[in-house]
Amino acid sequence: MVSREQIAQAAALIRSGRVVAFPTETVYGLGANALDPTAIERIYEVKRRPKTSPLIVHVSSVNMARSLVTDWPDSADRLAKAFWPGPLTLVLQKNDRIPVELTAGLATVGLRMPAHPVALALIEESGLPIAAPSANRFTQLSPTTAQHVANGLGDAVDLILDGGPTEVGIESTVLSLTGSQPVLLRPGMVSREAIEALLGPILLLENAGDAHASPGLHSKHYSPRTPLYLLGPAEPLPKLGRGIHLYWSNPREAAESQVMPAEPEKYAATLYDTLHQADLRGYDWIAVEAPPATSVWAGILDRLVRASIR
Ligand code: AMP
Ligand code: MG
Repeated sequence: MVSREQIAQAAALIRSGRVVAFPTETVYGLGANALDPTAIERIYEVKRRPKTSPLIVHVSSVNMARSLVTDWPDSADRLAKAFWPGPLTLVLQKNDRIPVELTAGLATVGLRMPAHPVALALIEESGLPIAAPSANRFTQLSPTTAQHVANGLGDAVDLILDGGPTEVGIESTVLSLTGSQPVLLRPGMVSREAIEALLGPILLLENAGDAHASPGLHSKHYSPRTPLYLLGPAEPLPKLGRGIHLYWSNPREAAESQVMPAEPEKYAATLYDTLHQADLRGYDWIAVEAPPATSVWAGILDRLVRASIR
């Protein structure tokens, strides 16, 4: 799917300050040299992302992560051992190598080691940490295939590496380790439960006070173009127009419906592609049966809430 030559070409582009779309296990990323303010600027331009939303830096080792922060706490070490490479971003105190352009002016930086051979090979080959948000325009659906990237960004990126569909399917869990207690800034497929099994109780963003506000967590985000209604058990389907009902447990009378996986890992892996497809089919609405309100579904529920009409 992706050849050594393509990795070498992509790495050369990264080293010369260009942007490259590449697969990770979460979603496709729009990558650039994390140490180069001009390259970072390009990411914001291509995405039309507000400058207030910091980027996540992708590393290929714990050593590379340590080289970017002032302090690597024991909790980071334990989490990295348990969950890296994988869909967990750790927010830590940045050092001077990380430009403030990348962190929206914050003194902290989000770091993660992705579990995708192409992403890891690209970081290794370029010899640089790679800043990468999702490879889509701001507020639109994240891409989980190379085709989604091409549809959304077209000529705006210098190269798209096609590593097939992503396995996890939604963005990483983001955990801040900069305060006296860890704070879950964004839920994802590494669940609160799994983190607490390792670290003991952690705080949720809503209980952590203002000091931990995570810029870039916009209430509307990750949205399909088609209006999406997230429905509780008693809420009716929209009456007007032609739509599709996505359910995992309770089918309804609907002209069109699609059953979603009842396991969170499988549900997350297909969610964005299902929404991309629904957009392409030109429905007037997408109705989604709300998933369970448990910790293992929290990342999925968070994305659906942000995607929905409220
Ligand atoms: P993404 O859009 O998936 O690349 O994820 C980036 C998001 O991670 C940002 O919009 C923030 O919500 C969060 N994030 C990244 N870096 C930091 C940071 N230094 N402090 C707090 N949140 C961060
Ligand atoms: Mg994104």
